[in-house]
This record gives sequence, structure tokens and C-alpha cells, in this order.
Amino acid sequence: MKDKQKIVYFNSRGHLNDETIALFAKRIMTNDESIEIPSSVIAHFEECEDCKTEILDFVEVIADSFDYVTPLLKNQIESEPKKSHQEKVKPKIRQIILSRTFRICSLAAILLVFMAVSWFVRHQVSPERLFGQYFSPYKNVITIKGTNDKKLAEGMLLYDLKMYDSAIVVFTEAFMIDSLNRDIKFYLANSLLASEMADEAVPLFYQLQQEKNGKYNIPSNWFLGLSYLKMNEIDRASLVFKEIAEQKNSYSDKAKQILRKLD
Ligand SMILES: [Zn+2]
Repeated sequence: MKDKQKIVYFNSRGHLNDETIALFAKRIMTNDESIEIPSSVIAHFEECEDCKTEILDFVEVIADSFDYVTPLLKNQIESEPKKSHQEKVKPKIRQIILSRTFRICSLAAILLVFMAVSWFVRHQVSPERLFGQYFSPYKNVITIKGTNDKKLAEGMLLYDLKMYDSAIVVFTEAFMIDSLNRDIKFYLANSLLASEMADEAVPLFYQLQQEKNGKYNIPSNWFLGLSYLKMNEIDRASLVFKEIAEQKNSYSDKAKQILRKLD
């Protein structure tokens, strides 16, 4: 018991460490009540989206791996009695050897799977997954002033309803009339990215982040990075996120997290 209290569950950044994530995933998978999860870890799991996602990803991948491992173990236990029989081992002892071998094999296999999955989850985060984790369309900060903004208002309504395909149609019409309007351009780009049209969003975000003192400079750069991520253009995405990480704005911490995961 004394040793158990010495276990460190959190890393230096205050998140769950690799071992805890593996342990938690194992607890969920096996429903083994002898695996003790301290309440501080459970509380963190419930509060921290990042750690929760990592644990659930872990479980998901392990569940897939088990489908692969279980038949392997079955084959092993079925093929071994024959071998042992030829060696003329007494049945009782054979049973013990078998069950022990089986247990050691299963344990080793499970351990191997856990280690492999741990490595996989940590180091092979797909850009697509990262994009899903970090992207949410920019909030609506538009105040409609006059009747000239009618199209913009219509587009924003659809945008708020998350009807991005329809919003794209309306914003595109508005953009044809007034291509210098930053609001239209920015929310059109967001709608495109939300509708999986990252390649069409890129030129719009690029122009917006290039503008001197433009009101959407900072978020546009962030969304540009995410667009590249979505397009699987890792080098370009990394360049953008490095820039953001150095700038110390509200996206810098997230950019650093993504860079770490892309490493
Ligand atoms: Zn966390």
C-alpha cells in the first residue's frame, strides 16, 4: 500500500502521464476492479478534454487490437495440448503448465499490445484527428448595422445554425458583390473549412492573415494552420503553428500542443 501512494499519476504539465492513461484505459477495457484509479485522476478525466480524448482513443485502438490478439491466443491453447501429450507429461501437471503458459502468454500479449498502442497513440496522431480535436468554427462576433448587410445577416443566421453548406452559398453571393468585406471573407472561409473544403478556405485565410492590422489577422493564421492540417500538408501547417507559438496570442498554447503532437 505504501508503494501505491508513491505512484505519480500526473506529468509536469498537470495532465495524466502515459502510465496513467494506459492504466485508465485498461480499467475501462477489463472492468477489473483491482485496478485502483484515484479520485483525482477520475476528476481530471471528467474535466480535461485532452486527457479524456487520449484515454478513449487508447481504448478504441486496444479494442481493435484485441480482435486480433484473441484468436492468436486461442490457437496457442489449442495447439499446445498435442505437443505436451507427446512429451507424456502427467495430465494434472500439464494442466498447470498450460494454464500458466496461457496466462503468461496472454499477459505478455496484452502488455505488448498496450505498449504498442501507447506508442502509436502518442506518436502517430493523424493530422485528420488533430484537426477534429482543435477545429471549431469561429464564434459569431458580427453586429449587423444596415440594410446593406442583409446577405451577411442571412449567412450568419445559417452559420449559427451550423448549416455551413447553405451559409457558403449565401456568403459566396455576398462575396461576389463585395469581395473586400472582411467579415464575409472570414466567415465564408470558416464555413468552407467546416464543410471539409479546406483547400478553398486556404486562399481566403491566407489573404486575411496577410492584411496589416486586419481584425481577423490572428484567428485567420490559426485557421490557415488548421486548413493545412486538414489537407495533410504537415510542413506548411508546422510553419504556421510555429509562427503562432512564438507570437504569444490566445492560440499560442494550442499551437504548441499541436506541434508537440506532430513531432
Ligand atoms: Zn489533462
